[in-house]
Amino acid sequence: MGLLKNKIAVVTGGTRGIGFSIVKKYLENGATVIMFGSREETVNSAIDKLKSINEDYNVEGYYPKLTNYEDVERAINEVAHKYGRIDILVNNAGVSAMESIFDYDPKKFDDVMVLNVNSVFYGIRAVAPIMRDCGGGVIISTSSMVSIYGQPAGVAYPASKFAVNGLTKSLARELAPYNIRVNAVAPGVTNTDMVANLPEEKREGIKSTIPLKRIGEPDEIADAFVYLASDMASYVTGEILSVDGCARS
Ligand code: NAD
Repeated sequence: MGLLKNKIAVVTGGTRGIGFSIVKKYLENGATVIMFGSREETVNSAIDKLKSINEDYNVEGYYPKLTNYEDVERAINEVAHKYGRIDILVNNAGVSAMESIFDYDPKKFDDVMVLNVNSVFYGIRAVAPIMRDCGGGVIISTSSMVSIYGQPAGVAYPASKFAVNGLTKSLARELAPYNIRVNAVAPGVTNTDMVANLPEEKREGIKSTIPLKRIGEPDEIADAFVYLASDMASYVTGEILSVDGCARS
């Protein structure tokens, strides 16, 4: 494989879960990956894990505060200065919360929206001029199956993912003249820490609602990010690609 040979990719929230699989698969496909994590320790331990798979992987980490535009812009500019360009930006970092509307703390609503929506805008705002000046690029954000029909609790989370889809569809149109493709992946329930720690009974209940009758693996979600970042998707933009075992239906 080498679908992303010599590409420079920035991946936010790459230290664990779906983001870690994206970073791993991008490296397997020949990209240089700069992961943006929230803390130095978690970034370093993710890098150690990746280097133990292959010590020749070109991977490094930054930890800008994703909820602060100046911080994100500084980190993106540093990467562009160091490598001469950024070919791929993956906006993957995100948080969820399941509170009922009757108990929802408005501050919590802000927290979810600022990370899941504003930070996606910040990353794209900072990288767009760099990609434009380099002749093009690819931007992919992590949406969710709940961005199609919503969910019956934790309203900020689905609202934030509807907004991710809105940014994706609008910016695909705005950035197309600059050869910048903008897409999103909408995963279904995926076997990350959060789901792995659920009681077996709960996991079985979730599986029964999914037509493919199983929970998705992070590597299966990451494959969609490889496809969308690669030249195999050279005519795909403005797409929200569901990878959910048909759970959205
Ligand atoms: P996770 O909690 O395992 O990983 C989240 C990642 O985001 C981590 O790397 C974490 O460090 C990072 N992050 C969280 N808050 C951050 C902050 N304030 N600043 C910087 N980084 C921060 O979760 P995951 O399941 O791998 O989720 C990744 C993405 O996939 C999220 O956008 C999530 O909404 C989406 N998603 C997950 C599922 C699922 O079932 N796991 C389903 C649909 C969509």
